[in-house]
Amino acid sequence: MLRVTVVCYAVFILRFMLRNFVILLFAFGSVIGATAAESAVLSNVAWQPQILVNGAVCLFAVDVAGSPQKITGKWLGRELIFSHASGKTWYSLAGVAYETKPGTYDLALEVVTRDGHVLREVKPITVHAAKYKSSRLTVPQKYVTPDPETLKRIEAEREIKNQAFAHSIPSPEWSGNFVAPVSTEISEAYGTSRTFNGKLASVHRGLDFHAPIGTPVHSSNAGEVVLARDLFYEGNCVVIDHGLGFMTMYMHLSEFKVKEGDKVDKDQVIALSGGTGRATGPHLHMSVRWSGEYLDPAKLLALKLPPQP
Ligand SMILES: [Zn+2]
Repeated sequence: MLRVTVVCYAVFILRFMLRNFVILLFAFGSVIGATAAESAVLSNVAWQPQILVNGAVCLFAVDVAGSPQKITGKWLGRELIFSHASGKTWYSLAGVAYETKPGTYDLALEVVTRDGHVLREVKPITVHAAKYKSSRLTVPQKYVTPDPETLKRIEAEREIKNQAFAHSIPSPEWSGNFVAPVSTEISEAYGTSRTFNGKLASVHRGLDFHAPIGTPVHSSNAGEVVLARDLFYEGNCVVIDHGLGFMTMYMHLSEFKVKEGDKVDKDQVIALSGGTGRATGPHLHMSVRWSGEYLDPAKLLALKLPPQP
């Protein structure tokens, strides 16, 4: 008897839960319906360059009618914050990690309207495989097999760099296109697979420019100097934070013209080029860092970017 009662109660609770679940489903369905109806305000989602490859820098642009409070996004597991340009366009400077495999990935957008409604839209975007080269280089042996003392130095410098990379500026400091730091020819492209002294294999995660020692190096865009010091591999190195996790780095310099904490303008001379650190000879190595990934500087320099309002 007791057992029957318990079963009856169980059935009752199950029914109660089911009914409420159906009500919940209805409520959820109407929220989705409302979102779908209002998502019409999100009129266009575009990106530059049109063909995305692994290692690319890209600019997402979203047209939204009205004046939303904020627009955020999720792309390749990273959070994006959109800034307002002009008219109804919002944009976010982002990228595709070198390791990203070809395929289709979702750009998930979230718009918070003036009155607090949340509109969502998902845009599938195809990432293609980039064609990068390979090369063989010869550098002093200490850069391939560092001694224990040097390994300690490298470890300490990793910490210094991580602190600089953790720096954050909540809005873009850059305005308009990024400019080349020197006007000389490119000597080695981004993405090249390299063998140092026939051994160590790595990928060139920056862009090299021919630059005789003493060539003035210009800041690619406006920002704040978060690192300006001598490092083992990078040599004299400058890192500039352009806001929202986007940084440019300049390596193998002979002389600094800025110090940590300085605000710099676009095209301002920040250093003189050199051949310090792990370099095969005098040249300028530029890298672009976004959300912990090193992207192709040539792709950043090719973007047509909006000026800051
Ligand atoms: Zn380089």
